[in-house]
Amino acid sequence: MAKDQTKTKMRYYPALLGRHDMTAVMPALVRDVAFFNGIGGVVVGIWIYDKFRDFMAKTMAHNGREITNRKKFIDNDKSILIDPMTYILGSQYKNFIRKRAKIRAELPSNVLQYLLNLEEIHKNKTGGYEKGVFIENVIEWSKSSELTKAMIKLQKEGGATLLFSPYFTNFRSNFNAMLEANLEFAQQGINNVKRIENAKLGIVICIDKTILKDDDYEDRLRNLFTAYKEKLTNVDRFFLKIDGIDLNDKNEEYEKIRKMVEIANKVLEQSVFFLGIHEFGLILSLDGLEDFSSPMYSNLRIIRNKKGNRKASSVGRYVRPKDMERLKKDDIRYLPCSCIYCSAYSNVSQIPPREWNILRKEHWIWWLNDEIKQVTEADDSGLAQSLKDRFSRTTHRDWVGFI
Ligand SMILES: [Zn+2]
Repeated sequence: MAKDQTKTKMRYYPALLGRHDMTAVMPALVRDVAFFNGIGGVVVGIWIYDKFRDFMAKTMAHNGREITNRKKFIDNDKSILIDPMTYILGSQYKNFIRKRAKIRAELPSNVLQYLLNLEEIHKNKTGGYEKGVFIENVIEWSKSSELTKAMIKLQKEGGATLLFSPYFTNFRSNFNAMLEANLEFAQQGINNVKRIENAKLGIVICIDKTILKDDDYEDRLRNLFTAYKEKLTNVDRFFLKIDGIDLNDKNEEYEKIRKMVEIANKVLEQSVFFLGIHEFGLILSLDGLEDFSSPMYSNLRIIRNKKGNRKASSVGRYVRPKDMERLKKDDIRYLPCSCIYCSAYSNVSQIPPREWNILRKEHWIWWLNDEIKQVTEADDSGLAQSLKDRFSRTTHRDWVGFI
């Protein structure tokens, strides 16, 4: 029971990681005041940041207010955080080498330019990058500040409020070497961002889920956070991330995730921001978590037909808020929700697949914002009880045990 006298200031940041997310979230953000006021900002994956920049640059009516540019968005106290997703950059580089023409067409122009620069720098080197992101690459990258500079430049161009230094996942198997490389990245970030750019800097501490499997995971996490805290100064915000968790899995390591936030807040001496945690973030508010993001709910999967062509599946699930059930479009006739988005449709079968994908994401944020409002407005003594009551009626009733 970690909740104390401090009232929670929890905020949700939709994570826009694909083009579908952008088309679903941004128009609603621009159109609806309640939607706009409900979020803390957006987390944008670096792979769509150029689309995001174009989008933000356009003049958009916002119920009487005008968002004319990125600055206005920030002036409205909404943050833009651009996740460098460095680990994907590594695998993209590998693909880029192999399937240059195809990748070229798909990559954002500035990311492509970065990969070309990277190739130029390393074209005379043997081994290494063609193999993808292995520990040797990470360590080598961490020694050169080229990667850090390029990633920070991309974020700046995208209009980020706070800049992230690049990061890779801390794995159990090569824990010490990876930690050292990540600390080096972070230090370069501080050198570049603080000394040259004079901007705010966030450090992402990303661990692989397997670390939570260790019996001594608490000690390991404490040591990890202590290393970040002691080696780095001048960090504006720490961000947590876990690779490989499945939040729809009832047996996921929820208790350990909760413990992780507790330890992080204590060791780092600030409220951390959790990237990619979705509605479990409501429980973490009891541990002082203030900000969290999640990818826009259950993206459509890309499947291949018999001819091998890529095609978006229509299995995107819709969350029924009352019990957190994930519903298939084919299984429901009416939408069990009265939010402004859902109430526009009388019959599910009439919703075209493309609009279905947008609607269920708008609905998801609307509903989560409403949940957060209830959390932030609950009095402290009643917060735990209200969360218990809430989750006991849902498919996540197991979470009640963590409250
Ligand atoms: Zn709805």
